[in-house]
Amino acid sequence: MSATVGLSPAILAKYQPVIGLEVHVQLLTETKAFCGCANHFGSAPNTNVCPVCLGLPGALPVLNRRAVEFATLTGLALNCTIRERSIFARKNYFYPDSPKGYQISQFDKPIAEHGWIDVPTAAGTMKRIGITRAHMEEDAGKSIHDGFPDSAMRTYVDLNRCGTPLVEIVSEPDLRTPDEAYEYLTRLKEILLYARVSDCNMEEGSLRCDANVSVMPVGAEKFGTKVEVKNVNSFRYIRSALEYEIERQIEVVEAGGRVIQETRLWNQAEGRTYSMRSKEQAHDYRYFPEPDLPPLIVSAAWQAEIAATMPELPEARRKRMIAEYELNEQDAQTLTAEQSFADRFEAAAKTAKSPRRLANLLLSELGGRLKAAGIELDQSPITLPGLVLAADLIEDGKISSKQLKGLFDVCFEKSEDFPAVYEREKPQQITDSSAIEAMIDQVIAANPAQVAQYRGGKKTVAAFFVGQVMRASKGQANPALLNELVVKKLDE
Ligand code: ADP
Ligand code: ZN
Ligand code: MG
Repeated sequence: MSATVGLSPAILAKYQPVIGLEVHVQLLTETKAFCGCANHFGSAPNTNVCPVCLGLPGALPVLNRRAVEFATLTGLALNCTIRERSIFARKNYFYPDSPKGYQISQFDKPIAEHGWIDVPTAAGTMKRIGITRAHMEEDAGKSIHDGFPDSAMRTYVDLNRCGTPLVEIVSEPDLRTPDEAYEYLTRLKEILLYARVSDCNMEEGSLRCDANVSVMPVGAEKFGTKVEVKNVNSFRYIRSALEYEIERQIEVVEAGGRVIQETRLWNQAEGRTYSMRSKEQAHDYRYFPEPDLPPLIVSAAWQAEIAATMPELPEARRKRMIAEYELNEQDAQTLTAEQSFADRFEAAAKTAKSPRRLANLLLSELGGRLKAAGIELDQSPITLPGLVLAADLIEDGKISSKQLKGLFDVCFEKSEDFPAVYEREKPQQITDSSAIEAMIDQVIAANPAQVAQYRGGKKTVAAFFVGQVMRASKGQANPALLNELVVKKLDE
């Protein structure tokens, strides 16, 4: 549902949206950023707390080494420069779920800056989106507004999340459409998951995104006034929220008004944004260097040590897999969208005669059936090792693709893996050359026009004869032999 204003395409086309995203990700450390409390989602309220993360007087923070390593990995994965000496700062504000009255963050000397990621565009090209900075900070607790008998009267607070290590990743205002923003988030999440720095679970709040958006007349140089949209908890909703907000701003400008700089909240049920507060400026937070923490030093040697632990990232993996397994771009994209899926494919591919054929079977024949049945590979009756056998049999021409489909039908009907079904059914194959030749002769005699085409130089017509004979043999002709004999006969 969208309460969008419904401006005409002609009016929309007069304006250029500009978008920049701020993404907070929780790091996958065992313990919190500045104390030894468990960094764990879902514990009973206020059980993972101590004097440090409760902000009791006199308690002192000690920086979690692992959090620094994850933040550095994040920066490196986003092509940032890592600052050797970064500084923690206090960002002061009052909020009931933040007992210290300030948040430990980084301000003018963040750990990572000047990075980028490449994002696919509608035109099918890649566009480089700048990453302004990625800085370390701590999370706040959670106010709980409902779920208690007296929730209408009271708000409760759970401080378990206080002090959870975060990295905030700020993009340059380089995005131009809600679709680009969606793609950026998709790629960013993929990279963070591959780097294993966060689980990026939006439902549990381990990835959160604030979207900044403005509009300016097409051709203008100066960006319009930006609005920050918060409270959007899925990538799809971010796209909707941006679409709405762009139209709202254009309507304001078209009516002769001015967009005011503010923070707005997305209301998914109503499909619109509401003003929350006028945007505070950096000076409102009275940032100052955190007196309880020394500067953070990530020496070149330590950085190199951390860099050496970087898993292969999605883009590099796609390139390698395309080269190694002769995959096309699209298949490589699908196979690598999830690291564990890619891992499983690669483990199986190493045992297959033709990884490329295995990929094809996995994505088309098996993938199609899984999709139709609404199940994942984990629940597939045909396992990856089973699929390797199928791919090898096809590769060796020992079964035809028609027979393969028949065997797959049985696997799905009986919920049995491919090798068992193949052993039992051992589909008939005609491997007798003279029998196949006789069938080819018949098809040749029945299709003089195609024979003429072939003999006139259109060699691809051979596939037509292979298909016809395969059909006549009820899929039982040995494919390798059939291919060979068709060409032989046509060339006679
Ligand atoms: P603030 O100080 O208000 O937080 P920043 O300059 O730090 O503003 O930018 C915050 C985010 O807003 C960044 O992601 C940036 O790319 C984006 N941004 C900045 N100016 C604009 C603009 N005019 N339109 C859209 N996004 C913008
Ligand atoms: Zn603690
Ligand atoms: Mg800012």
